[in-house]
Amino acid sequence: MPQTPQEVLQMIQDQDIKMIDLKFVDLPGMWQHCSFYRTQIDEASFVDGVPFDGSSIRGWKSINESDMAMVPDPNTAWIDPFMKEPTLSMICSIQEPRTGQPYDRDPRTIAAKAMQYLASTGIGDEAYFGPEPEFFVFDGVRFDQAENKSYYYVDSIEGRWNSGREEADGNLGYKPRYKEGYFPVGPADSMQDLRTEMLLTMAQCGVPIEKHHHEVATGGQGELGFRFVPLVQAADYMLTYKYVIRNVAKKHGKTVTFMPKPLFNDNGSGMHTHQSIWKGGKPLFFEAGTYANLSTLAKHYIGGILRHAPALLAFTNPTTNSYKRLVPGFEAPVNLAYSQGNRSASIRVPITGMNPKAKRIEFRCPDATCNPYLAFAAMLCAGLDGIMNQIDPGSSLDVDIYDLSPEELSKIPSTPGSLEKALEALESDREFLTTSGVFSEDFIDNWIGYKLDNEVNPMRLRPHPYEFALYYDA
Ligand code: GLN
Ligand code: MG
Ligand code: MG
Ligand code: MG
Repeated sequence: MPQTPQEVLQMIQDQDIKMIDLKFVDLPGMWQHCSFYRTQIDEASFVDGVPFDGSSIRGWKSINESDMAMVPDPNTAWIDPFMKEPTLSMICSIQEPRTGQPYDRDPRTIAAKAMQYLASTGIGDEAYFGPEPEFFVFDGVRFDQAENKSYYYVDSIEGRWNSGREEADGNLGYKPRYKEGYFPVGPADSMQDLRTEMLLTMAQCGVPIEKHHHEVATGGQGELGFRFVPLVQAADYMLTYKYVIRNVAKKHGKTVTFMPKPLFNDNGSGMHTHQSIWKGGKPLFFEAGTYANLSTLAKHYIGGILRHAPALLAFTNPTTNSYKRLVPGFEAPVNLAYSQGNRSASIRVPITGMNPKAKRIEFRCPDATCNPYLAFAAMLCAGLDGIMNQIDPGSSLDVDIYDLSPEELSKIPSTPGSLEKALEALESDREFLTTSGVFSEDFIDNWIGYKLDNEVNPMRLRPHPYEFALYYDA
């Protein structure tokens, strides 16, 4: 992997690269791109950026001040495996062309600011993030009950799988049953080769791959694993992950969705996020002999995440569908508590033996519909707020929370019930994000407005398919 602009330019020569594809993330968290002929990128492109029109990018500039510049990061260069002509891909941050300043609505810029903030507190100099994104592979999606039986689609009334290709092929016996997908071998697992191809393609794009497996839900839910890395890189890898697996699926006539709850009554897809802080190459979350071998600093980090969780979820679980996953009974967290090894708590402290470098916490709320740059930055801000204000997370909860009585349960705070509630929480609990300057007030207002106008309200205004089942003949 090249490190400097000169090395990138050398690579373009040596490998006879024809096109340079520049990618950047928009506000909701999707990659946008533009391709340039090789002569168009030179050393200056890495400083001044490459101009483009920012006015059509969701949640960004208005038309009268629309000039923006994308600045490629030479550390993110890889040859795009999905393009026919030799094409070098690079991930960009966004800057204002007039001033050369980073654009304060650019999510990748915000993630970089979160890292600068960590260093400025003196608490640490590196934050490692390890997301575990889950997804479903479908043959396609149809929102109505139309005639085409060769597609998997989610039956909008029952919220169930409908006749798909496996049935069409006569494969009725080998489909993993509801909640039994984790993880029988083939032929029940029919996605093995597809996931291997996805994983190996991710490696070609520089992602340090580790493993893949079928997930708990019925046919088609999967997860690929990569190594934990510093915050901005982890978010870069998340976008690479989505790009690669969607395009590999497409090659095989399949589609991928990260919707947190596409199927009623089966497990949803989360993006558990492992995190730890280091200083001078030393991990700070370990202390032998305490509860779960957690340092006081780590406990305060947990305290910060739990205290700010309702607001945090506006970034980590930012879609209306996110809250259909956060319900009891599907290994998704509902209660804001922490525990060693307990998957019903929203923070799990994995049992990692006596190796300080492996000590981390796993926040289980997030899902992959988030913008990972914003979600990771917000989680780090919440954890740092916990450390600086010594927020005690209370005692751990080492029982299956799903089995508690209503009285016991009522003492444990729970996740917000809807995106609207999470946005309300963010509206009133935002200082942990803004006082450091990582997120601007304008950014938070813009985020809340964007989510209400484009997602919460349009959903509320539309009759829901299930209302027909409930009320059609009422
Ligand atoms: N799919 C579950 C979730 O929604 C997690 C399952 C697992 O990885 N153990 O979080
Ligand atoms: Mg996992
Ligand atoms: Mg998983
Ligand atoms: Mg996990």
